[in-house]
Amino acid sequence: MKTSRLLERNSMRRSFVSLGTFVCLLSSAAQVQAADPAPTQADRPWMNAALSAEQRTQSLLAAMTQDEKLTLVFGYFSSDAPWKNFKKPEGGLAQSAGYVPGIPRLGIPPMLEADAGIGVASQPGDNPKLSTALPSNLATAATWDPELAFAGGQMIGREARATGFNVMLAGGINLVRDPRGGRTFEYGGDDPWLSASMLAAQIRGVQSNHLISTIKHFALNAQESNRNALSANIDERSARMSDLLAFELAIEQSQPGAVMCAYNRVNSVYSCEHPWLLNKVLKGDWGYKGFVMSDWGGTHSTIPAANAGLDQQSGYPFDASPYFSDALREAVENGHVPQARLDDMAGRILWAMFANGLFEHPPKAEDIDFKAHADITRSDAEGAIVLLKNERSILPLGAELKSIAIIGSHADVGVLSGGGSSQVYGPEGPAILDKEIKHGPQVYHRSSPMQALAARTGAKLVYHDGADIKAASRLAAGSDMVIVFASQWAAEGIDGTLRLDGDQDALIAALAKVNRRIVVVLQTGGPVLMPWIDKVAGVVEAWYPGSSGGEAIARVLSGEVNPSGHLPLTFPRSLDQLPRPKLDGYPAGPKAVRIDVDYSIEGAAVGYKWFDRQGLKPLFPFGYGLSYTGFAYSGLKAKGGQGPVQVSFTVANTGKLAGQDVAQIYLSAPKIWEAPKRLAGFRKVKLQPGERIDIKLSVDPRLLAVYEPAQNQWVIAEGDYRVILATDAATPVEFAMVHLRRQIVSR
Ligand code: BGC
Repeated sequence: MKTSRLLERNSMRRSFVSLGTFVCLLSSAAQVQAADPAPTQADRPWMNAALSAEQRTQSLLAAMTQDEKLTLVFGYFSSDAPWKNFKKPEGGLAQSAGYVPGIPRLGIPPMLEADAGIGVASQPGDNPKLSTALPSNLATAATWDPELAFAGGQMIGREARATGFNVMLAGGINLVRDPRGGRTFEYGGDDPWLSASMLAAQIRGVQSNHLISTIKHFALNAQESNRNALSANIDERSARMSDLLAFELAIEQSQPGAVMCAYNRVNSVYSCEHPWLLNKVLKGDWGYKGFVMSDWGGTHSTIPAANAGLDQQSGYPFDASPYFSDALREAVENGHVPQARLDDMAGRILWAMFANGLFEHPPKAEDIDFKAHADITRSDAEGAIVLLKNERSILPLGAELKSIAIIGSHADVGVLSGGGSSQVYGPEGPAILDKEIKHGPQVYHRSSPMQALAARTGAKLVYHDGADIKAASRLAAGSDMVIVFASQWAAEGIDGTLRLDGDQDALIAALAKVNRRIVVVLQTGGPVLMPWIDKVAGVVEAWYPGSSGGEAIARVLSGEVNPSGHLPLTFPRSLDQLPRPKLDGYPAGPKAVRIDVDYSIEGAAVGYKWFDRQGLKPLFPFGYGLSYTGFAYSGLKAKGGQGPVQVSFTVANTGKLAGQDVAQIYLSAPKIWEAPKRLAGFRKVKLQPGERIDIKLSVDPRLLAVYEPAQNQWVIAEGDYRVILATDAATPVEFAMVHLRRQIVSR
């Protein structure tokens, strides 16, 4: 691997170039306004924040020219795009994802867009923004703690505002239909309720800063290979009860200002010109009031896209044509796109801006409290780390250890992050930056697990990079214990294989031969296969743990923090356990091919539901995670009748250490649904030794229902439902029954 190590702490100057542009932008907007006669409230009734977002939208639309409406629906890339001879537009912020000019005459602010799933991201280039990186979205989902997700979203929003952005491309919620998907790390796992609870909390956090957040990628964007052309094929019922349900729940819980439609086709039609997805499901059935923006390169037409419900073309140099520019003007003039539709497109964009306070609260250049944000990302990473195996209580590290071999994955300098448009560079710049790697850059954040461990153990730590397996084995043989850091880099644009990168499987097997006291710390985008699992004493899944990840890992290994993460998706034992043992279209060639991917194989039985339905035993089940203490459940009760099903039970800490448990409720129907059971609720609780807590949960009725396409309704069937209190999807602990009458779930 060709790497350029940036060893100087501040060799990547904290970049306020973007901030400079942003300040100029504000002042040029002010100059334009100063040249106008000072507008009064009477001239601009839409500036009255006491009016509703709807009222303000209508009054502003009435004042707009056709050109101004067209300005709002057409998005620029905010970096250079040399392949199209395109230069970043004047008003956009450097190395960022998108820009839509404002309209100073009317006080409409520009839309300044950055990627956002794990922090304020930068497009590739020489001067990335230096911002705090949270753990991957999948890691945050592994916390099962919506409060941490909210705090992370709030932090992203704060850093975004302080550096000039007002639209954040966050909220990745595609269900993980295949763990090999290159963006698995950007999503919330394989269950609709868990993903929605976690991503909605993130979106609420982002938007609490008066910004718009997206939710994305709508819909069924479940793999990277051929993503720009593949057709995700699925029947309506299955789609509504899986991927679409995750969007439906999260949109309800967080009201994101924008929905980003996906690259792929769904049942042959591109997502961004899909009347059923956009007009019928999203805007019709779900009553969504915000706007639909395309993914960068996701717009494929003018008339079909506009009429199907796409409201804004994004990053147009990525598309074959500037479809929503002059072509749209012409289409409206000729009546192919009704004027009312263009008004609706512009109106939805304005509505999202008003509803989120973009007019009243423009981004404001501010110092960022990176220290406070380091605590937020560290807490998130600590809550996310999953202890998968802990034989003979090898962890936490014992005080008797005199020497520990630390091997692999640059653990002496940093932690790995996932690549692609969500790439964040960390507040101090990368420890390692590989710009040559395909689909890169690849970034290791400057947060060394080894250095953080050194501050927490009396043992002598010696690092080896693991490249020479024999030399690493010699070090391992002569040490009291071995901690091997193993990694798998994942990135947008390319799918994976569930294998650790390079020779790491062989390295781990060799080290395990010479020292039985061996713990593997994984930094992976998602699940990996573990051919060495029976040979090692401990396994810790640290995901991509963010810019304070090294410290989080060290605190868990040393016992300063009791691990409490639980898997948000299933770890398969082998590829042949997956619905598609061979990933369609993988490996992809340079040109996108119009392949079909058949999601009716598993239908709505995604992830653990598939394993359950097929009677397969995974390597580690959904919901799984160990602790340094123990928990016990009792008193499970369930109540049906009028209103939602209520479940109650008690959790006790039966061990000697304080810790956090993730109690999970699953439900089974009298007549089997898409799978034997569904996650219906969960709660993460903190307990002192000996402490007990009573928990009450209510179940969203859609999780008890089946979607009936013919009636366009969710229907709960009459019968006895089984309530399961469990520590993970494969380990039930207590059961209760509840009788339900037939019900139609009201919208
Ligand atoms: C990704 C989106 C991202 C956009 C802008 C696309 O490649 O699919 O998730 O928001 O780029 O960077």
